[in-house]
Amino acid sequence: MFELNEGIIQVSYIIATILFILALGGLSNQETARRGNWYGIVGMSIALIATIVGIVTQAYVELLVALLLGGTIGLIAARRVQMTQMPELVAILHSLVGVAAVAVGFANFIGHGGDYEGTMKTIHDIETYVGILIGAVTFSGSVIAFGKLSGKIGGKPLLLPARHWLNLLLLLVVIYYGYAFVHQSAAGGGLMPLVIMTVLSLLFGIHMVMAIGGADMPVVVSMLNSYSGWAASAIGFMLGNDLLIVTGALVGSSGAILSYIMCRAMNRKFLAVIAGGFGTSEGTQASGGGEDQGEVVPISAEETADLLTGAREVMIIPGYGMAVAQAQHVVHEITQALRGKGVNVRFGIHPVAGRMPGHMNVLLAEAKVPYDIVFEMEEINDDFPEVDVSVVIGANDIVNPSALDEPDGPIGGMPVLECWKGKTSIVLKRSMATGYAGVQNPLFFKENTRMLFGDAKETLEGVYKAL
Ligand code: NDP
Repeated sequence: MFELNEGIIQVSYIIATILFILALGGLSNQETARRGNWYGIVGMSIALIATIVGIVTQAYVELLVALLLGGTIGLIAARRVQMTQMPELVAILHSLVGVAAVAVGFANFIGHGGDYEGTMKTIHDIETYVGILIGAVTFSGSVIAFGKLSGKIGGKPLLLPARHWLNLLLLLVVIYYGYAFVHQSAAGGGLMPLVIMTVLSLLFGIHMVMAIGGADMPVVVSMLNSYSGWAASAIGFMLGNDLLIVTGALVGSSGAILSYIMCRAMNRKFLAVIAGGFGTSEGTQASGGGEDQGEVVPISAEETADLLTGAREVMIIPGYGMAVAQAQHVVHEITQALRGKGVNVRFGIHPVAGRMPGHMNVLLAEAKVPYDIVFEMEEINDDFPEVDVSVVIGANDIVNPSALDEPDGPIGGMPVLECWKGKTSIVLKRSMATGYAGVQNPLFFKENTRMLFGDAKETLEGVYKAL
């Protein structure tokens, strides 16, 4: 329909790439995140227009229908999704990139497998094979991650006997079929090994994510993010599209860096997390207590307000429950009221608080909490002895002392916010239920802990009124 000069396409692709890099840079900091998002939107728009106008040469109607359909579904999903469902949405979106890589791989092989000869054919076949492999693992792994994050599948790791051997066997079989595929494809066949590898990769993705324990899910989320990037890159190779290769590589490498940061923050070894079942130490029942930990001491909203007013140093520790209760706005109002009374209020953010990387920062930014009073765990964990009151809002695993006291437990070795070292901790939650990792929390039973039971938004509104 249109003819766009090759040079213009290349320039558009370079501009889009630069904008994607600027977007990543912007997203690494709260203050520049909004700008980063805009860079990404503009970059993607340029990329889409250049591709549609310059590269697509036929099937415009199908393209338009697919764009409208996909765009509408995306728009509805984005509008409907609750903030607490965001992690699941991200997981299921990753799965779509995986399925796209598989579909493009098969379509490319069936439709254009015969277009190449000799070495070029071998290279092309390897690209197709690896692309489908990454896509299939990303797809099934992301679907299981979606199930785990939405609570449809339990958080406990599934530990099959001899699972490491099983993984190794799968890897060897996949390599064998790769060889068979390239061999048969040269003779005009190859579909069967491709199908077998796809099924095995799907099983591998399921097995890999099923074996990962609740507390290690943050690493999985960022790892699948990385895989989805490599899957997109693989599609780029199959289609010979430079921008897709570069964009996929950007997502893939930034996801890998994020996984590394998550692992370091949680004191985990990346390979150990991927191998699965980390911290459960097969056989030793992760205790963390449960029964007989002593008494818990409840507190009322009014008493909480009194304690806060009398404090000089207050640390607010938000967790997943704040997202569930949507309590961030009233938290901001309380912060303002206390600061008005001369109380020094700070926020302590654990790297895996909530259900996705940066979850709490997004919520606090939404409620317009000033950035300069929001601190990372590393920055403030030594300050707790000087803190008068810590307010733990719907957080559990990230303030669990058993992470330090029981190295073999499911969250053993993970650094936590050590609020119990302060004068008083007030924990807001609805019941004595455990957090995501499923371990009881000895913090609740400590002498200097008070429990403010109820939905965090409602109880905090009570506190605000009393203030
Ligand atoms: P947790 O899941 O450990 O605890 C949240 C607590 O909030 C629960 O104990 C719950 O108790 C309480 N809660 C729920 N709803 C409400 C409400 N409406 N009002 C008040 N309280 C409420 O959350 P944390 O943030 O402490 O820890 C995050 C966990 O999630 C970690 O284990 C982490 O590994 C995992 N994870 C993190 C990801 C990430 O990328 N950040 C990704 C995937 C998992 P009750 O029911 O009694 O109210």
